[in-house]
Amino acid sequence: MQTIRGFRDILPEHISLWQKVEKEAFALFESFGFKEIRIPVLEKTELFARSIGETTDIVEKEMYTFPDSKGNGLTLRPEATASIARSYIQHKMYAADPVRKFYMTGPMFRRERPQKGRYRQFYQIDVEVFGVESAYADVELIFLLNDLFKRLGLTGLSAHINSLGCPECRPAFQKALLDFLGERKDLLCENCARRIQKNPLRILDCKTASCQKALEGAPATINHLCPACDDHFTIVRTTLEKQGVEFIVDKSLVRGLDYYTRTAWEIKTTTLGAQSAVAGGGRYDGLVKELGGPATPAIGFAIGFDRLVEVMEQLEIESIKPTLDLFIVALGDQAMEKAYQWSCELNQQGVRTEVDFRGKSLKSLMKRANKLNANHVLIAGEDELNKNQLILRNMNTKDQTFIAIDNLVPELMTILKK
Ligand code: AMP
Repeated sequence: MQTIRGFRDILPEHISLWQKVEKEAFALFESFGFKEIRIPVLEKTELFARSIGETTDIVEKEMYTFPDSKGNGLTLRPEATASIARSYIQHKMYAADPVRKFYMTGPMFRRERPQKGRYRQFYQIDVEVFGVESAYADVELIFLLNDLFKRLGLTGLSAHINSLGCPECRPAFQKALLDFLGERKDLLCENCARRIQKNPLRILDCKTASCQKALEGAPATINHLCPACDDHFTIVRTTLEKQGVEFIVDKSLVRGLDYYTRTAWEIKTTTLGAQSAVAGGGRYDGLVKELGGPATPAIGFAIGFDRLVEVMEQLEIESIKPTLDLFIVALGDQAMEKAYQWSCELNQQGVRTEVDFRGKSLKSLMKRANKLNANHVLIAGEDELNKNQLILRNMNTKDQTFIAIDNLVPELMTILKK
């Protein structure tokens, strides 16, 4: 049996970088006042169709959607924002306190063409803020993301930011775009030609060469912002500058989901070959209302966890090396029984200890201690048990000392916890 295409196992030998990221990210998010939320992987199809947008690639082509036994349409979540907004509304979180700050991590599912850095089950780290309209919420998230990547030792990243305007200024922009595309419609790919009336903004996101050509010199959203959106974007830019966060204003950045308004951004890397995004975010002030809740401004970002780890591997960023505090070489049944009890006690006390229960020889047990990177080895053979004294060997210095069995665990703890 094999995994299905685009799905993969992440094996224990690769997990330490994932854990390093989670540890660093969650501690940082917590200190900025974010709380963890856990949401289902399966939701009603309608949730994603309504929020991400009927004419987006994700909804049109990429969702894992199937009917349940009653014929209701269900979808494996392709992203987290829609579900978190659903949760915010369902639990009436806005009533007690409209300002909520969440983070989560977990798998997302999109039926894209699998390749390096692109999977059908992939992982995201997601951060969302509800109830804050101020541009400082936008800057704070970009700053946070930038700071996290710095702490993880990432280099070669660039932050691309744009403003997509709001329902106030978007109609005029769409008209300008449609006018511009007037004579160039023949250049558009089949998909965009179909979408143009329903959702002209999607064309800006199309990667096909002919659409890119059609878009040369096209109007930009940032030149059509209403005064409120313009002020908002000015605060974002000037504050980032003051904080020394480098960024590029990228007029072509629109993101692949319909719910975005005002600030949108992506953090791109060149480490994985062609330029690709390791994280993306944006404001979505209309989504909560669209899904049936009260009008609530909101903003968030998602980090592509798989890609982030791939970048870290490329940059040879050190993971936390798994080590063992103590390996107990137990020779014979009597020693095994005791070793089992000592190791349970020591592990409970936070001293990482292992025993090999397979009854191997001294030589092969010493080999295993080396393989497991043990800092100390405790040798418990018949002889040692009879003398009531075990040998403790420091594997780094090769020094050996004797330890009395009577007070073994407390004594080991003082030596090994140093
Ligand atoms: P999005 O929700 O499309 O804005 O994606 C946010 C981030 O998730 C992207 O910048 C990617 O790093 C990552 N991502 C999106 N789709 C995939 C995929 N199929 N495989 C791996 N990572 C992905």
